[in-house]
Amino acid sequence: METIPYNATVKGMTMLTPDLMILRIETDESRQEFLAGQNMVLGLYGYAKRSPNSEPEADQLPDEQLLRRPYAIASHSTETSLFEFYISQVKSGQLSPRLFNLNVGDRLHAGETIKGGFLLNETPDGSDIIMVATGTGIAPYISFLRTHIVERPESKMIVIQGAAHREDLGYFSELVFLEKSYPNFFYVPTLTDADDGWGGKRSGIEDLLEHDFLQNEFNITPDPEWTHFFISGKPAMVSSISRWLEQFGYRRHHPDNPGEYYIEEY
Ligand SMILES: Cc1cc2nc3c(=O)[nH]c(=O)nc-3n(C[C@H](O)[C@H](O)[C@H](O)COP(=O)(O)OP(=O)(O)OC[C@H]3O[C@@H](n4cnc5c(N)ncnc54)[C@H](O)[C@@H]3O)c2cc1C
Repeated sequence: METIPYNATVKGMTMLTPDLMILRIETDESRQEFLAGQNMVLGLYGYAKRSPNSEPEADQLPDEQLLRRPYAIASHSTETSLFEFYISQVKSGQLSPRLFNLNVGDRLHAGETIKGGFLLNETPDGSDIIMVATGTGIAPYISFLRTHIVERPESKMIVIQGAAHREDLGYFSELVFLEKSYPNFFYVPTLTDADDGWGGKRSGIEDLLEHDFLQNEFNITPDPEWTHFFISGKPAMVSSISRWLEQFGYRRHHPDNPGEYYIEEY
């Protein structure tokens, strides 16, 4: 039934919530070294079962249809066969409920080529880097930091991660650890629906930026000459922060038309 045979095996699944997981896979054949921030296609056939806490899909899919979607790789860029992904379940979606029904040892499809232009290594050495994320949009920054943090001691690097609840802050412990380990790295989690035990920020990311928190806490003014922005996550957040940056003269980066802010929407 598999016209394209499965070519990778699930090595680990860490469930952060019923709808958020860190998935680790091993490909049968090594891939070429990739660039931090790039993505790989994962796939399962229509016959794969959906997770018990998903919703029925609108149309019944043919068993022999290979469903494929891109996912940002969270791993260090020198990994060539073990890859980590941070995935949220879209309950009515086609592929993600099937990924959430996998178990360690199960087989799946992993794309042969790794692609994407959301790349830290295109920013000038020494420029400050602000990485803004909601949801699983944090995944490419984990790859950026695992790969490049030691190479950029002269850049301030700040991750601003927005979520509703504490349990939605994937990679929280790793980011706190990096903040303690690198004097140039700062981690700013902010929750819109936190319980009383949360001692951190409670605003939306747009609110924080509009109220000059980068100037007040980090002495960074939004200046396209010195500070580059990455924005990754929900389309509404990406577009409102893009508009905010454009007031300061920022231009969206394209490979053939360089700019100072980079976006990845999903
Ligand atoms: C470059 C790139 C990188 C990506 N990286 C990641 C990643 O690291 N982790 C990750 O979880 N996803 C990532 N995605 C999204 C992923 O490719 C799928 O779109 C997602 O898993 C939904 O697929 P699906 O087949 O379950 O839903 P589909 O059947 O394709 O979609 C159903 C509907 O849900 C909407 N939808 C898509 N994503 C979401 C979402 N997150 N929340 C709510 N609604 C949504 C779609 O617009 C569509 O209308 C990335 C997408 C792109 C383009």
